Amino acid sequence: MNVPLLDLQAQLAYLKDELQAAVLKVLDSTRYIQGPEVEALEKEVAEYSGVPYGIGVSSGTDALLVSLMALDIGHGDLVLTTPYSFFATMGVVLRLGARPVFADIDPVSYNIDPRRMEEILDADKERRIKAIIPVHLYGQCADMAAILALAERYGLPVIEDAAQAIGAEYPLATAQGTRILRAGSMGISGCFSFFPSKNLGGIGDGGMVVSHNKEFADKVNLLRNHGAYPKYYHSMVGGNFRLDPIQAAALRVKLPYLDGWHKKRSDNARVYNTLFQAAGLVGQGAVVTPTAVYRDGGSDSGADNYHIYNQYVIRAHRRDDLRDWLLARDIGCEIYYPVALHRQKCLGTGYDDISLPIAEKAADETLALPIYPELTVEMQEYVVSTIAQFYMNR
Ligand SMILES: *Cc1c(COP(=O)(O)O)cnc(C)c1O
Repeated sequence: MNVPLLDLQAQLAYLKDELQAAVLKVLDSTRYIQGPEVEALEKEVAEYSGVPYGIGVSSGTDALLVSLMALDIGHGDLVLTTPYSFFATMGVVLRLGARPVFADIDPVSYNIDPRRMEEILDADKERRIKAIIPVHLYGQCADMAAILALAERYGLPVIEDAAQAIGAEYPLATAQGTRILRAGSMGISGCFSFFPSKNLGGIGDGGMVVSHNKEFADKVNLLRNHGAYPKYYHSMVGGNFRLDPIQAAALRVKLPYLDGWHKKRSDNARVYNTLFQAAGLVGQGAVVTPTAVYRDGGSDSGADNYHIYNQYVIRAHRRDDLRDWLLARDIGCEIYYPVALHRQKCLGTGYDDISLPIAEKAADETLALPIYPELTVEMQEYVVSTIAQFYMNR
């Protein structure tokens, strides 16, 4: 059996007619820059996320970059973020001449640990840290209650890297009771990626910034278009970070399917968890299955998307050998991510003395397994039995 990590053909099989019609509509309209498809998607994604403003941009990376630009982050500034993420989270900081400061992660959620953040913010006596970028890794929100409390105490803006987490829900405790909020709606900026492997993926690159702050949204809107207002008058330096209307049209076809896909992914996660348990692989030091940390003991609180499982990531003993074993048996898997950000070569020697043991251990142990919505139970059984064989044989 062949089980790919992601099978976009399986999705195309039932979306092709709709997608073709949407793409051809843009073609025929000759509205190739901005226009009604982009505006409609902005409105729909903002509404989906529970915020008033959405600004379509060229990628998730550019969503982060333009957010930092809108906050005037630049040379000499520090940005507090996680060491365990896709490179873009730190790349945008470096591109603006700022430097990342890393707080180690929580070993269960793999998300930035607010306790480590607090230590770093306390030690930053010169107040050089100018923004915080938590990442909602694998599709599960970082601990936003604690992060927002720190942000408020230190007067810092929060940019949510929600590239992997569109629609992920977070139970924010307030004086009026618990409010279920969606990824991207809690900071001043929420950054989404429509890279084809994300839960809401385009047919090419795309991204969006969402916000509840009008002033911020207006600034992002200008910056994505060279800071021009009116046309050819530039009060600030932006870039071409616009979203392609063909992508917007394709994404509008897919958006109504998104919650169904989230559900299938979390159903698949439950199947995996059960299969791993039944195979005796959990608690034997072989495999640690992922935890949806905000799920209220499975009770129905009106919110299901505590984890949208953009990735189903296990910790595995002898991870690299297991990966080779699975790949040799036609099972797709991937390491997200093999090198913690503070260990990336592009940083030079400046971070050599920094030790972030939980992120470094995750980089050595994590392995993402196929979790896409069209995955069948038979395929999952094959994945888990092949993993069981690996641990039996050696
Ligand atoms: C995918 C991703 C990005 C970048 O998004 P692109 O659309 O590929 O530029 C940024 N951060 C995280 C955590 C991601 O997973």
